[in-house]
Amino acid sequence: MIILAIGACLGGGAAWSLGQDRDQDPPMGQAIFVGDTVLKPYDPVPSLVTTATDVRRAKFPATDIHAHWPASVEPAALLKAMDDLGVERAVNLSGGFGPQLERMLARYHTAAPGRLVIFGNVDFSRIDEPTFAADAVAMLERGKAQGMAGLKIFKNLGLTIKDRSGRVVPIDDPRIDPIWAACGRLGLPVLIHSADPVAFFAPIDERNERWLQLKRHPDWSFFGPAFPSRDDVLAQRDRVIAKHRGTTFIGAHLGDNAEDLAALEARLARYPNFVVDLSAREAELGRQPYTARRFLVKWQDRVLFGTDRYPGRADQPRHRLYYRLLETDDEYFRYYDHPFPPTGEWRVYGLHLPDAALRKIYQSNADRVLGWRVRDRAVR
Ligand SMILES: [Zn+2]
Repeated sequence: MIILAIGACLGGGAAWSLGQDRDQDPPMGQAIFVGDTVLKPYDPVPSLVTTATDVRRAKFPATDIHAHWPASVEPAALLKAMDDLGVERAVNLSGGFGPQLERMLARYHTAAPGRLVIFGNVDFSRIDEPTFAADAVAMLERGKAQGMAGLKIFKNLGLTIKDRSGRVVPIDDPRIDPIWAACGRLGLPVLIHSADPVAFFAPIDERNERWLQLKRHPDWSFFGPAFPSRDDVLAQRDRVIAKHRGTTFIGAHLGDNAEDLAALEARLARYPNFVVDLSAREAELGRQPYTARRFLVKWQDRVLFGTDRYPGRADQPRHRLYYRLLETDDEYFRYYDHPFPPTGEWRVYGLHLPDAALRKIYQSNADRVLGWRVRDRAVR
């Protein structure tokens, strides 16, 4: 037995000794150690002979409810990529607020209303100001009139945003209540990312299932006393969902419960105004294919397709990998096509969802949540 540990890989393949300088971890990928010495980058090729299905377009016109693109991306390029991929609509959650939001709406919503969809964001740096909530509500009303389709809350709420007292602002801080209520009144769904994967709250060591990812991005760790616990953050979010039953909340990344779908199921059962997107959790779904398939079939009315990328993003194309995961029964394949795994060091299995579930997850659940009517589609 010579494999003693799996560690971070070598930048250029040069020998690197763990014993020499533990602070200078090489950047990415997999490697094999013998004792303290890295032998070589380790990237085994499976000898398993399996089917590899190349799904070029989503089986049903898809809404990518969880996309992010910068204002430099040409609307025409997005639309072309969407046509190639079978994506009917893409939702940019990074719409911003104030003048940035107005520019985003003018550039994308105006270019293709109903296909390029913009969600706005809230300026939480103003949380201590007496007019914080009233100003945000006014922005939501203005944005809605200009075509904004929803509100995105980033994970910094509950984890890192602090108010004047120096305290991390909890998601259920009462100062934010008027914003949640206004979203319900205006018919704006709230896509909310709260907490993060379990591994990001665990020590960064050889027992952490995302050790290599956290070596690449140590700032993604929320381990330690400087941060609230993952359970606390999710409980804060749950209290908001329970309190604002008239507002639809879309829990990003399977409600940040992808490692424990039973726990997510309990929340879906408890909160009728809670749905989830499956973006950036393809690795989690695909490593538990039996449970994931049962879950998605049972909750097919409450899960929305999303990628956390954007159609046509060249460096990290994701859509077709999701299609393969959701539609095929391909086995033991990579859920990424970069040189290194974006999340965990494992492969995935296709979920071969039935058509009825696929149609809802790709299309009709987003229609319902966004208030999009079949008639609007015919008119387009
Ligand atoms: Zn995102």
